[in-house]
Amino acid sequence: MTHKIVIIYQSLLGIYGDAGNGKVLAKRLQWRGEPAEVVTVEPGQPVPSDGLVYLLGGGEDWAQVAAVKALSATEGDGLRTGLDRGAVLLAVCAGYQLCGRSFTVGDDELVHPGLGLLDIETRRGNERAVGEVLSTGTLPDGSTTTITGFENHGGFTTLGSDATPFARIEIGVGNGTDGFDGAIQGRVLGTYPHGPLLPRNPELADGLLEWALGRKLEALPKQVVNAEHETLRAQRFQVVRTTKNRAEQTR
Ligand code: GLN
Repeated sequence: MTHKIVIIYQSLLGIYGDAGNGKVLAKRLQWRGEPAEVVTVEPGQPVPSDGLVYLLGGGEDWAQVAAVKALSATEGDGLRTGLDRGAVLLAVCAGYQLCGRSFTVGDDELVHPGLGLLDIETRRGNERAVGEVLSTGTLPDGSTTTITGFENHGGFTTLGSDATPFARIEIGVGNGTDGFDGAIQGRVLGTYPHGPLLPRNPELADGLLEWALGRKLEALPKQVVNAEHETLRAQRFQVVRTTKNRAEQTR
């Protein structure tokens, strides 16, 4: 069986290159000899219900509103069915916000209903959170992983009691309300960092795959996890620790 990694609405939620998350998930399965393919669906097409991991990325305010409208229609039903079947959804930034109960965008007071997959609410703040993020994420199996990324959002997110915070923030803003970034509920993980997230954080990529598959993955062959990879990851830590987060500076 070929594992399906489903990128939802690349044309709307692709501005930050978050589709890279899908390529990483498929590649890390293929490196282990497990067949995998990336499938991209656009508004007007039904979301397939047989995905292993679904991905929503970041986007502009207008694109976020268009995406939630399209996904609220019947063409989005495949996502809910897929999650009920045990698939996992990784939702980044605009994608994270639109999974919640509601959100606002821009200077607009209008409250948009979200998909209701996460017990979160997002409201526009007085400044944007722009800059590097360093955090420690906890997955549902209790495993923790250090995360680096880049955030750029004007919405700040409050979690309700059904959602669990995902990552404790060391550098950056994240949700901006609780010292955490992101939320987990059911089979959905929402988070703010781009980068894209998974090329920068391969442990998290494997954690997501193991969560979706319900089993441990084999360690990757040595020629794949090479010195270059370690050097790049070390560089990201260096950048994060030496770049002041603009939102922090203006506090
Ligand atoms: N439009 C949202 C915000 O500014 C999400 C932005 C993004 O996806 N980077 O909060």
